[in-house]
Order: sequence, then C-alpha cells, then structure tokens
Amino acid sequence: MPEGPEVEAIRRSLAPRLEGKSLALIRNTALRMRYEPKVELHLKNLGCIQELRRHGKVLAVVCSKPTLLFRLGMSGTLLWREAKMPRPKHAHWTLQLRPTVPDHPSKASCDRRQDQQDAEQRTYLDFVDPRRFGGIEDVESFSTWREHSNLGPDGLHLEEREYPQRIKTMMRSGRSVKAILLDQNWIAGIGNIYASEILFRAHVHPARPGNTLSEHECLSILREIKPMLCKAADHDGTSFATHKTPSGKRGENENYLYVFQRDGDACPRCSEERNSYILRLNQGGRSSYYCSGCQF
Ligand SMILES: [Zn+2]
Repeated sequence: MPEGPEVEAIRRSLAPRLEGKSLALIRNTALRMRYEPKVELHLKNLGCIQELRRHGKVLAVVCSKPTLLFRLGMSGTLLWREAKMPRPKHAHWTLQLRPTVPDHPSKASCDRRQDQQDAEQRTYLDFVDPRRFGGIEDVESFSTWREHSNLGPDGLHLEEREYPQRIKTMMRSGRSVKAILLDQNWIAGIGNIYASEILFRAHVHPARPGNTLSEHECLSILREIKPMLCKAADHDGTSFATHKTPSGKRGENENYLYVFQRDGDACPRCSEERNSYILRLNQGGRSSYYCSGCQF
C-alpha cells in the first residue's frame, strides 16, 4: 500500500513531465472505484497542468480547473505507456498529455499532417488499480481542500511547532501507539511499513497505549518521523507489493528497513547483547514488527 514516501516518489518522478502539459482524461472502464469525481471527467480537457502537490498519501494534479486528487488506495499505481503499447489490465483511467497548444490554434492545426504530428506528441499515463480502493476526486483548489480536510500535518514536512499538539493528543489516547501513527488525522502519510520502523527507531513497543507514554517517549517518536519518511522518498519508496515509480522502477527502500517483514531475524540493534529477534504482532488485522529486547 503506497504511503507518503511512495506517493512523494511518484510526485517527484511525474512533476517534470506533467507540469506545463495539457491534460485530457479518459475513463476506460465503467467499474466504480472507492473515490469518484463529482462531475463527468471522461474525455474532458482539463487545460494546463500547473503543478503537482501532495499531502499525506494524496497526490494532487493542479490543472487550470479543477484540481484532481489521486488516491492510490491499496494497490494504485501510475504508469507511463507509449501510444503504440496496449493498455495494461486494470487501467481504469488514462491521462492523455500533450504539449500546451495556443488558445487560438492556427489554420495549420486543422491539417491532417498536423493532427498526426499531434498524435505522435501525445503521451499516456495509466492509473492502474486492481483492487479499486483508490480513485480520482475533483476539487476546487488544493489549498481549500487541504483546509477543509481533517488530515493532520504532512509527515515529510513535519515541523517542531506541530509537536506539542501531537504529544497532547497521543498522551490522552487509550489507543495503541501503532494505531495513533496510522491515524491520518494525527499526522498524514504514515502507513504500516513506516509505523513499525518509526517505533523501532524510537525504542517504543507498538502495543503501548498512548496514555502510558511519557512526554520524552512521544518526542522520540515525533523526531523519527520526518527523517524516516524523507529518506524513504529519496530511495523511491518501498516496493514490497505493487509500488513502482511511473517509469516502472522499483523503490529501493526495502534495503534500508530494520524490522518490517524481518520477523525471525536477529535484532540489528541489541541481538549481540540480548540475543533477541524481531517478532511479529497482529494489531487490528495488520502486522507490526518489533524487537522485544529493545522496544518497551
Ligand atoms: Zn532489539
């Protein structure tokens, strides 16, 4: 499931190729997805793409009007395709891009040769999502949507001034610290992989209820979030399941994980001293990974 760093890796890869291009959307299937646009977007010309933004796990393509929010859900990816290549399976939407044309095209653009040239200049980006937990939404503007959403601050841009409020919420909660980390309204962008990694680095056991943590422990957790997520985005994210960058490249961050899916391995931090191993714990139907020797 793509988390903040995976979506950021996708944003970084797409931005130079999308910004300034003219965008039209094609809906390829009638299958409903979890997120649906309010208005009909099939074959709609959305004008020039101004910029690509991200908050948490949401990728925003800011067009002349409207702004599109891409939610990748459990299995969503965006993949480039050459015009001559067949459309991949489960590509529910296709983004058709072409160089921005002037408002009043010259007579020559009606010429057939010009049309052919235009077709050759088109590029395609497929939104592939086999499980359909993702989708596209249309909103008036990125900043208005962000203001009215309940999402917490973005983990990759987390600032120290945000700490006191996050600590307060955490220390009042009876939920497990793992559940708090996954709560997008607390901080946006953390999912199952990075929650385990952050808690390992902070020496905190994933099952601890928030209201048993000291202020110092909360602070240790918060200090790990931004560096952990930013480093993962620099490695193009983690590719355990479906994540790939739009050019089809796998992320390299799985080589830098300490505990996620490493149950049975010796703890990289304390095994010499305590002979301890990474363990797996089921929390709310999802796996957490931790070391019983050095996470309390
Ligand atoms: Zn350990």
